[in-house]
Amino acid sequence: MNGLVWKSFHSASILPVMFRPVSLFLASLVLGACTLLDQPSPTPARIATATARPLPSQVPQVSVTAQEEADPETAVKHVVHAAVDMARHEISVQQELHYRNPGVAPLTELLLLVEANRRAGSVEVEHARAGEMSLSFTLERRRLRIRLPRMLQPNDTIDLSLSFRLKVPPIGDDEYLGWLGYSEQQLNLGYWLPVVAPRRQGEWLVRETADLGEHAAQDPADWLVRIDVENAPEGLSLAGPGIVTKVADWRWQFELQAARDFSLSIGTNFQRTATELADGTQLEVYSLGNSPDDLAAAAWALEVTRRGAALFSVLYGTLPLERLVVVEGDFPDGMEFSGLVFVSRDWFESWKGDPASYLTVITAHEVAHQWWYGSVANDQAVAPWLDEALATYSEFLLLESDFPELQDWWWEWRVDRFAPGGFVDSDVYGFANRRDYINAVYLQGARMLHQLRQDLGDDAFFDWLRRHAEQGAGNIVTADDIWSLLDESQLAATLETRQRFLRNPDP
Ligand SMILES: [Zn+2]
Repeated sequence: MNGLVWKSFHSASILPVMFRPVSLFLASLVLGACTLLDQPSPTPARIATATARPLPSQVPQVSVTAQEEADPETAVKHVVHAAVDMARHEISVQQELHYRNPGVAPLTELLLLVEANRRAGSVEVEHARAGEMSLSFTLERRRLRIRLPRMLQPNDTIDLSLSFRLKVPPIGDDEYLGWLGYSEQQLNLGYWLPVVAPRRQGEWLVRETADLGEHAAQDPADWLVRIDVENAPEGLSLAGPGIVTKVADWRWQFELQAARDFSLSIGTNFQRTATELADGTQLEVYSLGNSPDDLAAAAWALEVTRRGAALFSVLYGTLPLERLVVVEGDFPDGMEFSGLVFVSRDWFESWKGDPASYLTVITAHEVAHQWWYGSVANDQAVAPWLDEALATYSEFLLLESDFPELQDWWWEWRVDRFAPGGFVDSDVYGFANRRDYINAVYLQGARMLHQLRQDLGDDAFFDWLRRHAEQGAGNIVTADDIWSLLDESQLAATLETRQRFLRNPDP
């Protein structure tokens, strides 16, 4: 299959041919990102999920009512050729997009989110084409609008191609955004490729940039990405999600289905350690240092990843991930992407062999994001608690299960010492600082979930989360979606808790 795929890459009409085999894959994967902390704390990341989906041609027409434009079937397939110049920190990208109008109204343009141009001038679009026809486009900071050559009717498809150059900034301009940046030992590519914005209620869903937290809301897409590395130093290796094939010297191919994004980290001295779950899911940690302490920290991160992925699979349901890659990020935060998460070097370096540590907590958090973001996504700018509160409470659930002696430590050290307050269902725009944001959304969020568990009882509480994980898989969920899974008596039993923690307690 790889041969067919790559042959089609070089043909004139690439997409229809190349995605036929890809679409036979069943998995659909999702992912998300997370920024956690302020001082002592790190940020969580997430894992991706894939579920079986029908082929686009089998998708029934969506009715024009409640579920308008909410068809979660993968509507976009990307084929990417990227040449990464490691000396110049520049990338030349050819990106083919196969897009199906998932909505109920015809489209005259596509809106692509170009997160990499958050720093204006980082992305230079050279052309947009449909076949041989050049298309007019405008790039205004993170928004790339492409005029379509014809009206695109609902469920109709179109193939487009983009050519652009990306300048990767040095980590340090804004360290918290180090998931797209380079240091001496690492070049990170998170949110580096344009994605078509989701359609919701007849509009493109793109939120304004938030200074704190995240603001992405992305539908799952399929990815076939070829990476050529130029001016590569000795010892270079790539950490990326999905099925990886080394095609030639300095050339790699990645296949990833139903993923919210495609991310990558290129390291000049990665140490790799790996294991697998009983179901065959591959787990890998790519770390930066090679001292005995560094390697011990990496081994611990892998162990936490294994325990977390195993536990969350039981609690929330299995994910169709082939691999989950944890990368030690050379920046002070964690961040989740589909099938790949960053955990900060700060937590690797500070690990002294004690499980009561940020390395344990944040690794668990980021792993949980594969369910809460990767699989079940949310509008992160508007309702960040839907992934962050669940990922944070997942930290506690792992300790409760595997390190029960650390439960009290976790509540005191992770939550109570910050005396958190604020509404759990706050958006990302209303906070003056990161600490207040974390306190309200993450920490009060964990407290709320723990109280809901007392209100409902363990069986009903975990059944609720499981049903949410199942129904939300591949979707961008809202607060209404999760609350609507409680019946009348459960809503009554949780009313006081919702009134205590939420700005809008009534679903
Ligand atoms: Zn998080």
